[in-house]
Amino acid sequence: MELSHRITYLTGGGSDGWDVFYRARQMKAAGDPVLELTIGEHDIRTHPDILGAMHRAAMDGHTGYAMVPGTGALRASVAARIAARTGVPTTAANIMITPGGQAALFASHHAVCDEGDTALYIDPYYATYPGTIRGVGAVPVPVVTRAADHFQPQASAIDAVAKGAKSLLINTPNNPTGVVYSHDTLTAIADVCQAHDLWLISDEVYDTQVWDGTHISPRTLPDMGDRTLVVGSMSKSHAMTGSRVGWVCGPEHVIESLINLATHTTYGVPGYIQDAATYALGRGDPLEAEVAAPFARRRALTLRALDGQNIVRAVPVQGAMYAMLDIRATGMTGEAFSNALLDAEMIATMPGESFGKAAAGHIRVAMTINDDDYTDALTRLVNFAKTQVGP
Ligand code: PMP
Repeated sequence: MELSHRITYLTGGGSDGWDVFYRARQMKAAGDPVLELTIGEHDIRTHPDILGAMHRAAMDGHTGYAMVPGTGALRASVAARIAARTGVPTTAANIMITPGGQAALFASHHAVCDEGDTALYIDPYYATYPGTIRGVGAVPVPVVTRAADHFQPQASAIDAVAKGAKSLLINTPNNPTGVVYSHDTLTAIADVCQAHDLWLISDEVYDTQVWDGTHISPRTLPDMGDRTLVVGSMSKSHAMTGSRVGWVCGPEHVIESLINLATHTTYGVPGYIQDAATYALGRGDPLEAEVAAPFARRRALTLRALDGQNIVRAVPVQGAMYAMLDIRATGMTGEAFSNALLDAEMIATMPGESFGKAAAGHIRVAMTINDDDYTDALTRLVNFAKTQVGP
């Protein structure tokens, strides 16, 4: 019995780029002291107060089916947070709660793309993007950015492939590059979306992790509110990755359609998880700042470790929990460097090539281990890179 084309080719059929990661995990399981700078997850766990709220909600009986679009309280809290952060009037009717940002990415593409439609995304990209687009039957087409532009997308590159496309997916602050899109970049993107009548899907799951510059949601730009779907999540802002709670924010008619999708797929998010998320949002900025603080510190540690040499150069580390490091001075590919570093120093990083063509010759480090180990890892990484440079 054959499986559908859609599921068989969801990942595009090639390597998923996670070979170094799996090798590191095997070494660790075998007892090797591997330092893992690979995965985008906090080294702290969900705040005990949030877990307390979750426990109380469950004990109070919120364990049955919850409202499919999300509880009224959580939708209203998310809307209030977005309105406060962006100034764009937003109500519960603009919000649908989803099981994490990933489900929101899928739902957003499902809402705007038909079978065979072209859906654009920016390269380098978060690993699931092309598969998510294939998952709704659309055709993923990358827009390649350049290291020389610090991976800020150029309007001309989007324009060149936008004819006939349905949507454009962007992500700022960006995984994997750690770059925050500038006002000029976002204005240029908005112009292309209007010129080619594209939906803009804006993945803003790292919106609380900004170290340099300002996070701008493109939904705030003139005439973009009706064509922008914002993807958000509690995963990164509140260290709630395992709780699976996120949202789509968009025009009311889109949200109404998405509720039909949720009814026929996820049937919503558990009520006690939503109550915990409502509680967490109610704690406001201080809790978000507490969760983001370790990455701000490690960003400074990254810059310090790279100081005084130019073999390993950082792409501007402006946001999110990653630093993209340019190792082209070693003459190695990102993949060769990551593999050799793992063998020589037992430090696991992600090759830039796992995130698309544009980040070749780079490696991504996730700033997700404790400060001392992180500093040690970066110092050894730089020293290793120096040994790889020819005479
Ligand atoms: N978008 C980006 C850019 C991400 O890095 C991630 C998680 N690593 C997600 C979306 C999805 O996160 P979640 O489903 O946990 O909200």
